[in-house]
Amino acid sequence: MHRLIEGALRFQAGIHGLLRHAGNPGGRPEPFAVFVACSDSRVVPEVLTQREPGEIFVVRNAGNIVPSYGPAAGGVSASIEYAVAALGIEDVVVCGHTDCGAMKAILREDKLDKMPAVSSWIKHAAAAREIVEATLPASADEHTRLNALAHENVLCQIRNLQTHPIVAAKLATGLLRLYGWVYNLEKGTVETFDAETGRFVPLTLGQPVHATFKPRPARSALHG
Ligand SMILES: [Zn+2]
Repeated sequence: MHRLIEGALRFQAGIHGLLRHAGNPGGRPEPFAVFVACSDSRVVPEVLTQREPGEIFVVRNAGNIVPSYGPAAGGVSASIEYAVAALGIEDVVVCGHTDCGAMKAILREDKLDKMPAVSSWIKHAAAAREIVEATLPASADEHTRLNALAHENVLCQIRNLQTHPIVAAKLATGLLRLYGWVYNLEKGTVETFDAETGRFVPLTLGQPVHATFKPRPARSALHG
């Protein structure tokens, strides 16, 4: 705890003033993307993307999960809704990672009787687990299953995201873009899902690949 307090005092003494004035005179952060990542301490969105504090709107939880829209909206849903509706952010990244503890919990759900909250939370990724079970041979080893689940979970959360009315509407009108990333902790590399080919591909500069298909034509075009 001492290290946290020492850091907070050092921040008060010097860094805070620098942040308030660094290209941002009003002191109001203007994030340009939402970044949904795992709580795993090895996954630090600002470090992974080399962004300054305040540049990205970060939402972190165990397993980089976005619950589907429903009557019992929670903190993740509220954060994303605020970022998209109030801040007008147009790019949302869901970033999973290799060696994820939450993915391990999903694969070993039967051993979670002492962790009811975790057990309940990872149900938002149940479809990902089912897809992995259905598509991988029974002989696949745990590393392979875990890796497949990390990727499949990102796609599952991208689908969950689209159940949120504001996300669905903005996607339909071309005002929002979704990206599905998997960060490889061992290699430091990132893969991104390309909806056009249905595959994860290495992240490259240039035109970013989207995790969803292009928006539908405008309503007037649909109806002639
Ligand atoms: Zn994780």
